[in-house]
Amino acid sequence: MYGYGGYGFFFDPTYILVLIGILLTVLASSRMNSTFSKYVRVPSSTGLTGCEVARRILEANGIYDVTVQPIPGNLTDHYDPVHKTLGLSEPIYNSSSVAAIGVAAHECGHAIQDNRDYMPLRVRSAMVPLVNIGSNVSWPMILIGLLIAQSGLYFGYRMMSIGIVCFGLAVLFQLVTLPVELDASRRALKQLGETGILPPTEKGAVRRVLSAAAMTYVASAAASLLQLLRLLILFGGRRNRD
Ligand SMILES: [Zn+2]
Repeated sequence: MYGYGGYGFFFDPTYILVLIGILLTVLASSRMNSTFSKYVRVPSSTGLTGCEVARRILEANGIYDVTVQPIPGNLTDHYDPVHKTLGLSEPIYNSSSVAAIGVAAHECGHAIQDNRDYMPLRVRSAMVPLVNIGSNVSWPMILIGLLIAQSGLYFGYRMMSIGIVCFGLAVLFQLVTLPVELDASRRALKQLGETGILPPTEKGAVRRVLSAAAMTYVASAAASLLQLLRLLILFGGRRNRD
């Protein structure tokens, strides 16, 4: 009998779902890395740096309360709606590569979402505190609950159920993240076109960079969904046997 029994929990047949998730994540991130490292070396004919592109797009949209600033690290670029800061990693901030322009425009897409009260962004931000707690406690609760359940106490199953609900919350968060990310990239391409920053000949390259980045979000959401499915299969199976 497999299922929750000892090592069986980690190596039962449903583990294939976890492996598929890992494979999807690895494929998406390696595609992202190869696309990014290719286009980070392709200079854009605009000659503008990531920082200049971000400032132009924000200005074109009447957004004057957002600060564009350089931040250390690679691929650490993000928009912070609380502090109204658009952080671009140093290589993006100072570069005029096709990749840099794409990333800078994408982060502007988030700033525009914030400015225009884009609902999925609001939902996502509201979920953050709850998801932070949920994702920290989910696995400890599932594993400790499992040990308690194995010693014959029903309380263990309760604890596991709560752990799985917490994990489900983190999965839901990843699903809400998807429209936010895809919409930011859509806005980025639209802005680059409308503002005349990017010549139409370079649009395809920026699109490839942004889609590769989007695929990493899709893959990690799919991996989490598979993981959740596995927990539900294992949990349901055990409950039926009792
Ligand atoms: Zn984004």
